[in-house]
Amino acid sequence: MGTAPGEFEIIRDFFASAPQGEGVTLGIGDDCALLQVPAEGQLATSMDTLVAGRHFPADADPSAIAARALRVNLSDLAAMNARPLWFTLALTLPHSDAAWLQKFASGLLQTAAQFGISLVGGDTTAGPLSITIQVIGQTSRALRRDGAGPGDSVYVSGPLGAAAAALPVILGEQKVLDATRQQVERAYYFPEPQFATAAAISELASSALDISDGLLADLAHICKSSQVSADIHLERLPVAPLAQTLAGERALAMAAGGGDDYQLCFTVPQEKVEALEKLDLPATAIGTLASGDAQVCCWKNGKPWRAPSMGYRHF
Ligand code: ADP
Ligand code: MG
Repeated sequence: MGTAPGEFEIIRDFFASAPQGEGVTLGIGDDCALLQVPAEGQLATSMDTLVAGRHFPADADPSAIAARALRVNLSDLAAMNARPLWFTLALTLPHSDAAWLQKFASGLLQTAAQFGISLVGGDTTAGPLSITIQVIGQTSRALRRDGAGPGDSVYVSGPLGAAAAALPVILGEQKVLDATRQQVERAYYFPEPQFATAAAISELASSALDISDGLLADLAHICKSSQVSADIHLERLPVAPLAQTLAGERALAMAAGGGDDYQLCFTVPQEKVEALEKLDLPATAIGTLASGDAQVCCWKNGKPWRAPSMGYRHF
């Protein structure tokens, strides 16, 4: 293997050996992959792009970049209660670098094996470093954004704010001890797609999504799709300990407005709340929906609270 493999060597040496999993009739190498469509349910598909300098530093560990790129896509499948099946990878590289590709492919294929998803194709081009992944899964009971109703309780599936608090460290703007740095990298590059929680709530939740842009911004999507408003009680938010360590008193604002944690936000009708609570999930009730005009109102200890940041906006 040379140090600067060409397009076809890149595909052959780093990606074509990806194991062919369930439903893969023909994997990487032909004009198209051939996939056996599951007999039950629906296909769920989603795509996310990560751009160097915007979603990760260009000099970040390639295996961590790969893990994050696949995990954020898997999170969309989880949020829809879809089982991972297949993914494709569009990779744009500034130059061909065998050492970089080796680490990237190993991080990618290790993550794929962990979550039972198979790489079945892609595209390899030269240009500014960017990674686009499209995932395909199967669901028999999709969790959508448009099913919430007035009176439903609003939940989050786990601690928030860690990834937003980690970002300045990832960007080199904040220095931390080595032990904290490890937690920072886990929080930022290895978000946990919430498959187990999604499966557990699938018969009870009226709506769900994964929190990629920030709780308040993403909850606003549920409110808009379901034509309801929300009252959120900030003192109930499960603030990640790492956010407290890194951001002190700004941790709450990060939990409310910061993105990249990939926990679920979901809603449960009152008549199903008891059943939900019995599941003993690591989920926290943070507020209630009301009829209304897609507003998310925040309260802290009974007083109105104005969010300093309403999540990430690309433009
Ligand atoms: P075509 O010219 O027909 O589009 P390519 O030369 O781009 O084919 O790709 C050849 C094969 O390798 C295809 O099966 C394609 O899906 C796969 N492939 C290309 N790039 C990647 C990649 N980065 N990861 C996985 N598979 C890839
Ligand atoms: Mg092509």
